Amino acid sequence: MTAQLIDGNALSRQLRADVSARVTALKTQGITPGLAVILVGENPASQVYVRNKVKACEDTGMHSVLERWPATMTEAELLARVEALNADATIHGILVQLPLPAHIDAQKVIEAISPAKDVDGFHIASAGALMTGMPGFWPCTPYGCMKMLESIGYDLKGKHAVVIGRSNIVGKPMALMLLQKNATVTICHSATKDLKAMTLQADVIVAAVGKRNVLTADMVKPGAVVIDVGMNRNDEGKLCGDVDFEGVKEVAGYITPVPGGVGPMTITMLMVNTLESAERMK
Ligand code: NAP
Repeated sequence: MTAQLIDGNALSRQLRADVSARVTALKTQGITPGLAVILVGENPASQVYVRNKVKACEDTGMHSVLERWPATMTEAELLARVEALNADATIHGILVQLPLPAHIDAQKVIEAISPAKDVDGFHIASAGALMTGMPGFWPCTPYGCMKMLESIGYDLKGKHAVVIGRSNIVGKPMALMLLQKNATVTICHSATKDLKAMTLQADVIVAAVGKRNVLTADMVKPGAVVIDVGMNRNDEGKLCGDVDFEGVKEVAGYITPVPGGVGPMTITMLMVNTLESAERMK
């Protein structure tokens, strides 16, 4: 059996076209959704991410501001910038690119962002909203994974979903979103004793670890849906996920590729969150 591909690029194009149309509609009411991205320091991967986010904003007709600050920026200076953007009526979403330099308390900075502009969904108020099923911003990566499941018409009710990884930005919110859709959810992590025993029971597997080949074909039930969040480099330096794609695609029912899977969806959901922030504020 060869799995069907869930194409994150194609789904992103569809969703971004919808975002563009809604941005155009808002503009006729005098509102241009605006995203501010703050980058502190010179982390090469972060520079690529912020460039892609700003470009995606421009492509959908949104307003975007990219603030680049040196790694010597103090925590107080960064908090002051966040406060200024909280008060800026042209900005509907604020994103502080992580990681921050070690002398800055990232959680303190995230908590300084107004929850109404927390389009990354990392604020404790956003986490609480997701936990309790209240309206709020969902973190973009797991939100994108949910959209991928929705795109194949997958009904999660009563299904067993196994999430590998329990970070605050991917694994935990992913598990909560799956639970909200009535899946039975198992969360695995580095202390899980027998990962294969867990994944073999799964109808849906989300791998969010950051290690190559965490999930191999022998760990997957035939027909399962496999979502690969991981971003790693292989021996040739090429981008790859956590899943042994070549092996697992012969067993799974659906699979997401890396690149071209969850990655583009993450940026797309950032656009969706920013647009929805502007729609809520009007
Ligand atoms: P993270 O904070 O490092 O969390 C990794 C999780 O994996 C932890 O919960 C860890 O368990 C668990 N883990 C580590 N080794 C394991 C093992 N052998 N078996 C089972 N679980 C194991 O990473 P993250 O921020 O969640 O990101 C995960 C991956 O997704 C990374 O590759 C990252 O680059 C990628 N990512 C991609 C996107 C995208 O847009 N495509 C966005 C965000 C992240 P413990 O908690 O016990 O340590």
